[in-house]
Amino acid sequence: MRQSQLYTKTRKEAPADEVSKNAILLTRAGFIHKEMAGVYTFLPLGLRVLKKIEDIVRRHMDAIGNELVMPSLSLRENWEKTGRLETVDVLMKTMPANKVSEEKSSNSYILCPTHEELITPIASEYARSYKDLPIAFYQIQTKFRNEARAKSGLLRGREFRMKDLYSFHKDEADLQKYYEEAKKVYMNVFREVGLGEDTFITLASGGDFTKDFSHEFQTVVDAGEDIIYLDRKNNIAYNKEVVNEENAKRLNVDFETLEQVKACEVGNIFPLGTKFSKAFDYTYMDEEGKKQDVYMGCYGIGPSRLMGVITEKFADVKGLVWPASVAPFSLHLISLAKEKDSETAKTAEDIYTKLTNAGVEVLFDDRNESAGAKFADSDLIGIPMRVVVSDKSLEKGGVEIKERTKEESEIISIEELFATYKKNCE
Ligand code: ATP
Ligand code: MG
Repeated sequence: MRQSQLYTKTRKEAPADEVSKNAILLTRAGFIHKEMAGVYTFLPLGLRVLKKIEDIVRRHMDAIGNELVMPSLSLRENWEKTGRLETVDVLMKTMPANKVSEEKSSNSYILCPTHEELITPIASEYARSYKDLPIAFYQIQTKFRNEARAKSGLLRGREFRMKDLYSFHKDEADLQKYYEEAKKVYMNVFREVGLGEDTFITLASGGDFTKDFSHEFQTVVDAGEDIIYLDRKNNIAYNKEVVNEENAKRLNVDFETLEQVKACEVGNIFPLGTKFSKAFDYTYMDEEGKKQDVYMGCYGIGPSRLMGVITEKFADVKGLVWPASVAPFSLHLISLAKEKDSETAKTAEDIYTKLTNAGVEVLFDDRNESAGAKFADSDLIGIPMRVVVSDKSLEKGGVEIKERTKEESEIISIEELFATYKKNCE
């Protein structure tokens, strides 16, 4: 993509109404636009990152479930059935906004913060026999929660993206087996987006679903709102909420010896048991034709929160730093040609065309700006590799390449650049 065609612009000043590092940098770099507290537009650059994250999540989830998309609007009755109409403290609803609308229909709907209330009735239509189980559905979709504190940018949205997966099993053992597999798949997702080393499976409260623990995936980061007790040796952590004498005995751990760190929950999985299947009278026929309870698990990841955590984790004083797997582009090509039809300008155009045609994702800074402004924007946007074409670089034999996280640059020939990025560029 040509930067001259990118409608959004970077800005030097931090937005006055933001306090979090992720919101400030992502706004300055033109990745997001704030609509209100906890509600953001993903601008073209931001959408590219969000899509990369969601594509990684999708690829891993396809191995363990079927993708679908459920609506955000749901019926009140479904929430009454599970009792969560009263107990979910972030639940929001819609209402007709004016008289004319109200005359058409006065219905009010629940805006889903999660989808157990919708998926359970769906699964019960398609999996009624032991032969149909286990099944698992997932979606990547927008969720709504009336969060009290929405000052953390993408870390805590009132409208945000979630991947939610739900699994249905014929007994607890089968749920457990799937649950353990899901843990592994989850860690692979966090590894692939660049957070593997800092993300820990964390025992947390099962909420009102289960007396067992749920498992959170907590990324160690200063901006995190949770405190975890980290046991690095055994590669496991405990959310502060479960740190008490009873659990110390139950788990045989001495919490006092563990490191306490700030972390952000990027994923959470729950063995739900029969809570939701019972609420919707969902049973299946076993081999003997007897009705049995269906066991459920639910598994969430927040792609938009992940984008915020990646920002918080890797950004430096100059701006954003994207891991290659989620970067909006692989390469930031900068032309410092002084005149439009100079040899240098033509060479830069040629490099852009060839790399793009070969499938390399290139952001091409073809704007009429100073070198200083272009370099500052490049650092702010945070693409992993910068390639500069200038009169000087061509005199020295090619282009100047520099990794976003390194200070030193080097000159390589144009052939070498093509060879590195795509063998079939020629
Ligand atoms: P938290 O404790 O941080 O409020 P939660 O436990 O309520 O989160 P879950 O219901 O487990 O969240 O949601 C699954 C995943 O969705 C979370 O692990 C997180 O990645 C993401 N998520 C939850 N709430 C938000 C939010 N308000 N903004 C952005 N992402 C969120
Ligand atoms: Mg959670």
